[in-house]
Amino acid sequence: MAAMGCAAQSAKTEPAVTADPQIAAALKQISARRIQANIEKLVSFGTRLTLSAQDPASIAAGRGIGAARDWIKSEFERYSTDCGGCLDVKTDSFTEEPGERIPKATEIINVFAVLKGTDAASAKRIVLVTGHYDSRNSDTFDVNGGAPGANDDGSGTAVSLECARVLSKIKFAGTIVFLTVAGEEQGLNGSHHFAKMAKDQGWELEAVLNNDIVGGDKSAEQNHSVVRVFSEGVPAAATEQDLRRIRGLGGESDSASRQVARYIAEVGRVYDAGVKPMLVFRLDRYLRGGDHYSFNQQGFAAVRLTEFREDFHHQHQNVRTEGGVEYGDLPKFVDYDYVTHVARLNAATLASLAAAPAPPAHVHILTKDLENDSTLTWEASPGSPAPDYEVVWRATTSPEWEHTQGVGNATRATLKLSKDNVIFAVRAVDRPGHRSLAVVPVPER
Ligand SMILES: [Zn+2]
Repeated sequence: MAAMGCAAQSAKTEPAVTADPQIAAALKQISARRIQANIEKLVSFGTRLTLSAQDPASIAAGRGIGAARDWIKSEFERYSTDCGGCLDVKTDSFTEEPGERIPKATEIINVFAVLKGTDAASAKRIVLVTGHYDSRNSDTFDVNGGAPGANDDGSGTAVSLECARVLSKIKFAGTIVFLTVAGEEQGLNGSHHFAKMAKDQGWELEAVLNNDIVGGDKSAEQNHSVVRVFSEGVPAAATEQDLRRIRGLGGESDSASRQVARYIAEVGRVYDAGVKPMLVFRLDRYLRGGDHYSFNQQGFAAVRLTEFREDFHHQHQNVRTEGGVEYGDLPKFVDYDYVTHVARLNAATLASLAAAPAPPAHVHILTKDLENDSTLTWEASPGSPAPDYEVVWRATTSPEWEHTQGVGNATRATLKLSKDNVIFAVRAVDRPGHRSLAVVPVPER
């Protein structure tokens, strides 16, 4: 495309997005050895079925979901001790009444650690990483049988833990929450409760990264250099008014969740995580669901990361050999280097967002008159020093942002480019080059 002028400011060549050396250094601290030890520890509890034992005797014996949960909590607490108490380790506990996959009232406990932002205003902004620590075998009600859950979702739990350990050594303006939930296999119960709590308490949750089955199962057709990133198109929480606008203007691929996916794609190019994100423009895989959806339902931007190719013999299966085929979610099928790479991609994304200025608010595109230029306006992001802004755009048929125009610290920009032909967004950028999420404008007449 030809160079685009900008009436608000003379056109300039944008510097490429570059890596933050502190974040790049932190990624190197993410350890395959630690991740392996954590997954093996989770497997050692025998089963982590949400309905399994959580009485004191079972916890003391190291079997069942109660023991697993206590261990996760003690790990977060240990990381906190190592950073001078920088993590606030908490539980979100509730009783789930009987339902389809919950035969009797069951206590469900989510465990999380909060790394509070250092800047009073920015600390209200939260990015979150989650995995589910519950597991299951062939039978969702089998409270005693083995359910190792090494990949599903020992891997995602290990990502939350390792991100907490490493990122807690750094200070960020924004807040990062490291979450592990239960009840996923019974019907997303833990994440549903947590997401609703976040909504009820008015959390400014900017992005949720749900890691579920990121073990890189060692099957012959696995691609160990790719991780899938699933994101909803039309938001689950869209109002009738939102839906009318989406239909009318072609907003099907511009949910806030999809902006998070695009952000991860950019992070994957800037940082060498060892694995490349492959964006999949759908909520989830066929016949499957996950905890990101609980957040989507409450109106939060949330995506799911999952290995490139799943081996269904190694998920939701009793451990056994049948007809020469090994079934079960065992540690020996997990590629620990792969989980490490996925953890690095998560950590780079969390760190980039927590370091970035707030995204611009009230982004509008002026549509009062029929004209071939496009004018965008927005509210300055709070915080100091005041950030600069970039307008990004792409062809309506393109998956990712293709062009960037810096506009300094203005809160209005006119581009010699027809809004009828492209999709625009605005993002904030600070001096060191941390970018906020991109915000797509709503029309203003
Ligand atoms: Zn899972």
